[in-house]
Amino acid sequence: MSTTGTGAARSRELAENLAAVRDRIDRACRAVDREPGGVTLIVVTKYFPAADVVALASLGVTDVGENRYQEAAEKFAEVRAQLVHDAPRLHFIGQVQSNKATAIAALADVVHTVDRPKLIAPLARGVRPGSRLGVLVQCDLATGPGQADAAHRPGDRGGARPESVTDLADRLAGEADLDLRGVMAVAPLGAPPEPAFDRLADLSARVRADHPGADWISAGMSGDLEAAIRAGATHLRVGSAILGTRPPLR
Ligand SMILES: *Cc1c(COP(=O)(O)O)cnc(C)c1O
Repeated sequence: MSTTGTGAARSRELAENLAAVRDRIDRACRAVDREPGGVTLIVVTKYFPAADVVALASLGVTDVGENRYQEAAEKFAEVRAQLVHDAPRLHFIGQVQSNKATAIAALADVVHTVDRPKLIAPLARGVRPGSRLGVLVQCDLATGPGQADAAHRPGDRGGARPESVTDLADRLAGEADLDLRGVMAVAPLGAPPEPAFDRLADLSARVRADHPGADWISAGMSGDLEAAIRAGATHLRVGSAILGTRPPLR
């Protein structure tokens, strides 16, 4: 796991990066007459240590994203031991393997990446007693409706096909222990994000027609958060613009 400097210097660097990202969010919101308060920043801390999460929390970060179960479990055991009642909410944003779904549900506060019905039962089983797990339907924006046979590209990031999103949303909404929050997507690589984010906004409207409370749109990363805000994103997932460059994929 990478660290970039320690202690005070690292905190200063995180504070500066965070301020720059918050400024980008403010300006993007103002440009389209949106309230910055309507956009939640989820800081993606994958590959970076628990100390960074603790430093970010002291800078006012309330929401953190992680994409691998094992790493998140180890890191958040540390974070929660240190911060007890002030630990940030944990958003799971990585692909959910069926055999890890129960453990992910027990660890996270929100899972953004539910993309198939098979995950519902194991997720529901893991929900901590007395609480409900927030869930979002991850949408595949690489293939439009009617392109169901399109070959999956290497590096495919997962997601339910557009035509199955509302069905999956209905099923999630029917689970007592799950709280359907909305939709999530990653813009396809190597293409302008705008058309993809517009398709996501469309899918969100279709889900909200039957589930008005499921109004989260989780979209936008370091490189495309302005486009996501223009398309109505309510939750941004920003990593490298705040934490710095990650080491290459393991
Ligand atoms: C890593 C990751 C992000 C953050 O990406 P950056 O480009 O570093 O901001 C957002 N969403 C998902 C699903 C990710 O895996």
